[in-house]
Amino acid sequence: MVKKIRIGYAAFSHESNSFAYQPASLDKWREWGILYGEDIRAEYETSKASIAGYYGRLRDEADVELVPLVFARLMPMGPITVEATEFLFSEILRLVQEQGPWDGLLLPLHGAAVSDKYLDGDGEICAQIRDLVGEDVIIGASLDMHANVSQKIVEECDVVTIYQTNPHIDTYEQAVHCADLVLRTIRGEINPVMYLADPPLLVNILSQGTSDEPMAELLRAAQAQWQKPGALWVGIGEGYPYADVPEMGMTFLAITDGDPALAKELADAVANRAWELKVELQGSSTSVHDALQRADKASAFPVVLFDVGDNVGAGTPGDSTYVLHEARALGVRGVTQALRDADVAVQCHKLGVGATFTGEVGGKCDELHGAPFPITGVITSVSDGKYEETKPVHGGFRFFDDGPSAVIKSDDGFTILVTTYPAMSASLDQFRSSGVDPVQERIMVVKGVHSPRPAYEPIGKELIWLSTAGASTADLSTFTYKHIRKPLYPLQKDATYTP
Ligand SMILES: [Zn+2]
Repeated sequence: MVKKIRIGYAAFSHESNSFAYQPASLDKWREWGILYGEDIRAEYETSKASIAGYYGRLRDEADVELVPLVFARLMPMGPITVEATEFLFSEILRLVQEQGPWDGLLLPLHGAAVSDKYLDGDGEICAQIRDLVGEDVIIGASLDMHANVSQKIVEECDVVTIYQTNPHIDTYEQAVHCADLVLRTIRGEINPVMYLADPPLLVNILSQGTSDEPMAELLRAAQAQWQKPGALWVGIGEGYPYADVPEMGMTFLAITDGDPALAKELADAVANRAWELKVELQGSSTSVHDALQRADKASAFPVVLFDVGDNVGAGTPGDSTYVLHEARALGVRGVTQALRDADVAVQCHKLGVGATFTGEVGGKCDELHGAPFPITGVITSVSDGKYEETKPVHGGFRFFDDGPSAVIKSDDGFTILVTTYPAMSASLDQFRSSGVDPVQERIMVVKGVHSPRPAYEPIGKELIWLSTAGASTADLSTFTYKHIRKPLYPLQKDATYTP
């Protein structure tokens, strides 16, 4: 019998917002689920996430055994606590050790994991795995496009791929590339070498949409480099500006077949173009006041307002009330949004459909996201907050759980979907499963910058990004960073770069 090629996969995946109120504690990780073995396969194989891409590439290879070890994913929030870090690291290392030996390992990490123990959580787990398994095991990491890719990750892994869309709808395809390169390396067909260019540059969250210029141009530039002979993969990490770490910023990665000089040339070519576009990469937004007035006068609806400062996908509480307060002050009616408030959700479930709720909703988690919003209205729906999205969405996920939820329709024109957990706006079914059809609404307020786009772009008659305050505000000058590089453009306008 031919000996099988054994490839294991294990990771934790977290986008850590250094400015978020809620630490990524071990309790939170357990609440979200730490999956082992076949349970990981059951959860992810039919999704469009990275792990599904590993199966997609390797499932039909008769001589390959793909072994699920441990995987934990937690929604973005504050940095990972020391206790959680030690637990996750020890579980990954234990299973890699116990179930080896390996020919390859695949790591569906995020790339913007910050821990209270290690600023570069992703780089550190790669280093500790490398120490454990030695140089002969081929290690591939597949990262989120918000990764702050460190030189350490690139040093410790043989192959790194990064999603190349934001919103992230190519997680599957990039993981296929990662698994493919790892397998071909194990088979001795290629000899990947990587180069990471990391100019002192960040791209504002508002300019991170990959179908918009100038990011679209940069991605075309990366594709053009990838087409060159000898190139195995070329791509861009946009970085995650809310992680206060030295490697925060944009990165440009090239993998070639045994040619380090070519890898540097390809990565530098894209990095140089990004540096030329640095001003255009900083984005612009509209005040809540102006956006609401514009939306109110629109001739076609729904108008979709993006609450950038309360981007749940970036680790915020999901209970920001700035837009609601401003709309009431301006007398704008017909405003619909989700708002996280676990206590109000419980009250609504007790009161039941048809009852009237009077009280304050949202604005309760911290000081950054506005004051509680008083409301009197009829409860039109209560639900368990679970829904499914089968179309491509940000991150490739399928099953959503906002926790016990309820809809309150107020006397003065507000429709609030109250959720128990912070709720992303990634799917129209979030509302439809509670009897509200966003297509029929007037002004939809969604939480996020890019993640709502696959759902809301097709239905929105106008889309406006708001300059709201909050832990994910687009105005990075409001944060006190301790660990980032200096200079870093645009925080220091005099930053210079020569590759
Ligand atoms: Zn991301």
